[in-house]
Amino acid sequence: MKRTALIGHLNDTHAGQTVTLHGWVNRRRDLGGLIFLELRDRSGMVQVQVEPDSAAFADADRLRAEYVTEIEGTYQTRPESQRKGGLADYEVIATRVRVLNTAKTPPFELEKGDSVAEDIRLKYRYLDLRRPDMQRNLMLRSKAVAAVTAFLDEHGFVQVETPMLTKSTPEGARDFLVPSRQNPGEFYALPQSPQLFKQMLMIAGYDRYYQLARCFRDEDLRADRQPDFTQLDMELSFVDQDDVLEIQEQLLAHVFRQTLGIELPVPFPRIPYMDAMNRYGSDKPDLRFDLAFTDVTDLFQGGEFKAFAEAQTVKVIAAPELTRKQIDELERIAKQNGARGLAWLKRDGDTFTGGISKFVAAQTPALLTRTGVAHGGTLLFAAGDWKKAVSALGAVRLALRDLFNLAATGPQFHVSWVTEFPQLEFDEDSGTWTYMHHPFTAPHPDDLPLFGTARQGEIRAQAYDLVLNGYEVGGGSIRIHDPEVQGRMFQAIGFTPEQANEKFGFFMDALEYGTPPHGGIAWGFDRLIMVMSGATSIREVIAFPKNNRGVDLMALAPSPVDTTQLADVGLALATE
Ligand code: ASP
Repeated sequence: MKRTALIGHLNDTHAGQTVTLHGWVNRRRDLGGLIFLELRDRSGMVQVQVEPDSAAFADADRLRAEYVTEIEGTYQTRPESQRKGGLADYEVIATRVRVLNTAKTPPFELEKGDSVAEDIRLKYRYLDLRRPDMQRNLMLRSKAVAAVTAFLDEHGFVQVETPMLTKSTPEGARDFLVPSRQNPGEFYALPQSPQLFKQMLMIAGYDRYYQLARCFRDEDLRADRQPDFTQLDMELSFVDQDDVLEIQEQLLAHVFRQTLGIELPVPFPRIPYMDAMNRYGSDKPDLRFDLAFTDVTDLFQGGEFKAFAEAQTVKVIAAPELTRKQIDELERIAKQNGARGLAWLKRDGDTFTGGISKFVAAQTPALLTRTGVAHGGTLLFAAGDWKKAVSALGAVRLALRDLFNLAATGPQFHVSWVTEFPQLEFDEDSGTWTYMHHPFTAPHPDDLPLFGTARQGEIRAQAYDLVLNGYEVGGGSIRIHDPEVQGRMFQAIGFTPEQANEKFGFFMDALEYGTPPHGGIAWGFDRLIMVMSGATSIREVIAFPKNNRGVDLMALAPSPVDTTQLADVGLALATE
């Protein structure tokens, strides 16, 4: 079975030659005694013509959709001037057809894959993966892996694999647990990330590490989450934040250049967390368009309009002209995101009408100049607790993006860094402080004295997120390498020395044996490829994903197991 080339690799140099191709029948049409086949492999599709008097005809006549076949024939191309960009530009006139295998009629028409229920696509994923869209996504992914590997190898990174059966790593999700047969009553955790191992590789002196690491987090699923997913995980020694960001910029630019032929402008803009929240209401702002907020808290303070006068924050967004129905819908979104309401004004000449217009006479001139709202345009306000107000307006900003297709006004891809995240976050539910990134992130050295004081919420972390088109596609930090600071951090998040020791004793020990300054990052690789491919769900760029209930519909996992299997690992189901 000697194939001349993959279908997509045929080119003008093959013209007039006899070629042998392997593939699947995408479609068969009979026209005026001729059989036309579309032959597909993972690289492309070509039209095959079988003439009634050819030796190939009888075998070709047996072919049906998705049969596997070998075709031998003459490759013909239309002269370049006559090409129409369709399949008929290139053709194989078959001289021999071999049916290599038959196929049942597929449960869905592959060509209509886009509109088929996702559950069907996932159940028959091996058929779904034959579709050109999925082939394109998986090829893009494979090319991106090759680009990453080439770049990192060239820049002195060592590829190391870390364990899958391990101990809990705190990334803020639930662990997937695996019972240990040899140690009844004890469990491994699947890694939420290789965080501690990569830090220990730095302690071990490997200097620069990377891994395409499978990570596991048991959390509620969304379009951009899977229970098992892939990170491009990296760590570097003897670096500060600028060093990490610079090499990451080069790496991402390299990946875009190699895979999509797109030149990303570097350096990427760096936006401190507080600015991102204050201006865009998000720590992963979509900056393909601006539509930034204006702060007008001061205009209303101590004034008549109580709802705004007493608010910690009043932010406004200058939107285009909106209908009442659109405003109502935006208000629903604001409320869903924590706001009590969405106040509005419509600009009419140099005054405002509608909404809260009767309360803003005194502020009108300032509102006009500060917001620059266009004639007929709408001002949308969120007021209240700072975090809630900005987050709600952030959601409204994204809804406006979708309503007016604002993303299309900017570059196809916009990358930025969000920096200076808070080190600690107060969790209202439990009434305790917790880490924002993870407990190994180094605080800004100037802010160290704030630990343990009433102002510890102001401690800035040396943490950074990589943001692409409004998606967080990477996150990392400079790490604590001083055991004393690590101890303070554990204390700040309420770990007693005993608890810290029980969870991370091995790591605390390691820190004391000559830890270099180090830092790193992990990319959410699936998410990155999703955005690069233009898909809106990571399931489109993962070969065998789970659905949004965490079920692999093809292999039917998870599934019940025998009681004997459970007994082997010392377990019994409580519900039985
Ligand atoms: N381990 C972190 C994460 O999974 C990434 C990092 O800090 O390098 O988000």
